[in-house]
This record gives sequence, C-alpha cells and structure tokens, in this order.
Amino acid sequence: MIQHKDLDDPHVREVIVIGGGIAGLSAAIYLGRARRDTLVIDSGHSMAKWEPVVENYLGFPGGIHGEDLLKYGRQQAERHEVRFAQDKVESIERAGEVFVLHGQKQTYHGKRLLLATGIFHLPPEIPGVKECLGHSMFFCKDCDGYRVQDKRIAICGANDEAVEYALGMLLYSPCVMIATNGEEPHWSKQHAGWIEEYKIPVHTARIQDVEHRERQILGFLMEDGQKVKVDNLFTTRGDIFHTELAEQLGAKLDGEGQVVVDHCMRTSVPHLYSAGCVTPSNCQMIIAAGEGAAAAQAMNRDLFEESLKNHSLRRYREVQLREEETVPEGA
Ligand SMILES: Cc1cc2nc3c(=O)[nH]c(=O)nc-3n(C[C@H](O)[C@H](O)[C@H](O)COP(=O)(O)OP(=O)(O)OC[C@H]3O[C@@H](n4cnc5c(N)ncnc54)[C@H](O)[C@@H]3O)c2cc1C
Repeated sequence: MIQHKDLDDPHVREVIVIGGGIAGLSAAIYLGRARRDTLVIDSGHSMAKWEPVVENYLGFPGGIHGEDLLKYGRQQAERHEVRFAQDKVESIERAGEVFVLHGQKQTYHGKRLLLATGIFHLPPEIPGVKECLGHSMFFCKDCDGYRVQDKRIAICGANDEAVEYALGMLLYSPCVMIATNGEEPHWSKQHAGWIEEYKIPVHTARIQDVEHRERQILGFLMEDGQKVKVDNLFTTRGDIFHTELAEQLGAKLDGEGQVVVDHCMRTSVPHLYSAGCVTPSNCQMIIAAGEGAAAAQAMNRDLFEESLKNHSLRRYREVQLREEETVPEGA
C-alpha cells in the first residue's frame, strides 16, 4: 500500500488508473508490464465482489469468487510494480498537460488518466431482498441465466425491458413471470402482444415481503395477500454510471450516460481514456478486462509516440551512449 508521504510530492505518474475493479486491474497489469510508472486509485467497491461464483470468465472451469479474481488481479499488477492507493477521487482539474486529482486523502498527478470507475446496478425497492443479491437475486441474464435453468423466475419491472428480459429468460426456464411491484405496466403494444402470445403471468400488486432462507428466495408475499412461489428474481431497475469525473473533464457521454470511447478506449478528451462498465460495452467481467487491456495498450503507444516527439527515449540510452564515448579508438 502506498504511503501518504509518497504522494505528498508533486511526482507526476505516467498513468493513473481510477478504479481497481476488473477493467482497472487488467489495465494495470498491461501498464506494469510495459514498465509505465502506474498508480491505481481505488475506493474498493467493485461490483465483482458481489458474485460468489463467476462461471463465465475464461480459465476457471469450476468458477471463481469475484473477490478472488480481484485479489489475484491486484497481486499480478503489484508483481509488475504497479502502486495502489486506497482513496476516492472527488475532483479532477488540469494543470497544462497534467491531470491533478483530488482524493479524499491526497492529491495525485498524472500524464494519462484511465477512468475505470464502473457502475452501480440499482437493487429493487423490495424489503429483505438485498441479502439474496448474487445468490438468488440477479441483475444480468447473460451472467446468471445459465445457473437458474428450470427454476421459477420473476422479472421485476414494468417496461419494455422487463418484457424482453422475461422473453429472453424463456431460453433458460419455461416458468417465467413479471412482477411490477405496484407499478402500472407501461410497455408498448407490441410488448403487450408478446406477453399475450407467450402467456407470461403478470403480477401487478406491490411485493410486501420476500420470503427467503440462507439467501435463497422462496417466494413473494404480495400486498393483496397472494403468495407467489419464486426461486429467482431478476431486476431491471437500471444503473447509476460513475461518470462524475468524466463530466468534470468535459468527456462526451452517450444518451444513456455512458462515457463515449473509440475502439482504443480514448474518450473525447485528449489523454483521457475509459474502460469497463462505465463505457457503452456490455457489462461483463471478461469484456471489462479486455477493455482495460485495450486502453493500456493505447496509453502505452501514445506515451511512446510522445517520447519520440520530445526525444525523451534518449534517457534510456544515456548510460550506454556515455560508455561508447569513452571507449578508446581501435578497441
Ligand atoms: C451481483 C452481481 C453479479 C455479477 N456477476 C457477474 C458474472 O457472473 N459474470 C460477469 O461477467 N459479470 C458479473 N457481474 C458484472 C461485473 O461485476 C462487472 O462486469 C465488472 O465488475 C465490471 O468491471 P469494472 O472494472 O468496469 O467495474 P468494477 O469492477 O465495479 O470496478 C470499479 C471500481 O472503481 C472504483 N471507483 C469508482 N469511482 C471511484 C473514484 N471516484 N475514486 C476511486 N475509485 C473509484 C470502485 O470502488 C470500484 O472498485 C456481476 C455484477 C453484480 C452486481
């Protein structure tokens, strides 16, 4: 762990990564191996921590706990001399070519900046459901559909997305229902037609309580007194994108509030990059890791080109050039 005194000096890092989740760690490994002076600042709330068994990440046939994936990623980055700071960056400004980051604990300086700040999936507003998160309550059918095959699945939501979610879940289970939790359905006519066609049950009463044992959902008690047997709940309440810092720097966001990037993860602001779920990509660990790696490659390349322009690569040759000058003639 980096010491406070190390950061009190105005040392300008080549790269600062904000966010030590999947995207940030993957970038850090690449940057460390490219021998870039890299600091990762992380507030410690990676969504990966919520997943007890990640089954869709390459290389772990038996699955891996999200916490372990983060732990190994950090060890791998530290092995390549990447430094870490436990802090939350609250604001950023630019001083010429340098980003000045104001954390809750320290101020940091960097030439290139990667925003890998992630998102937050909003849990449904249903009492008692949070402890089932990642065990029997999920946000993502691509991550968790496979593990709920043939279960009784409820989709919580009242819009087109909820309907499409329910239809998508039919690939995993024939027993799918929609619970609007007291919200008036506001899906399109076409979506209403699909509900009709596939005879998807729709419960519109508010969910008063979720019965569960050892994090396993057993059923809903509805406000109208009805009891509904359910094994798994998926929610479509939406996400909060952690884009405050990107906005402070004037980076372009898309209509959904995600940071716009090119294929090398460059944002609309020079020297500012972004990777992971805060970008418009599909929010999956392996994709976040890939984007982190792509961003690191681009930053490394951009720094290299900058060194060619300002002749700063020369410092790596200095010792040898000095020695060559002192070699006697004819030797
Ligand atoms: C319950 C659950 C289960 C999931 N299961 C799976 C699964 O099985 N498979 C799968 O592929 N995906 C799964 N996901 C999604 C997966 O967690 C994300 O795809 C992945 O974590 C995204 O990586 P990221 O680096 O973009 O964001 P994160 O891993 O969330 O990391 C973002 C990091 O940035 C830090 N940060 C944010 N703002 C600041 C700041 N201002 N200063 C400092 N640090 C900051 C946060 O503390 C956090 O550590 C699941 C998600 C949830 C919620």
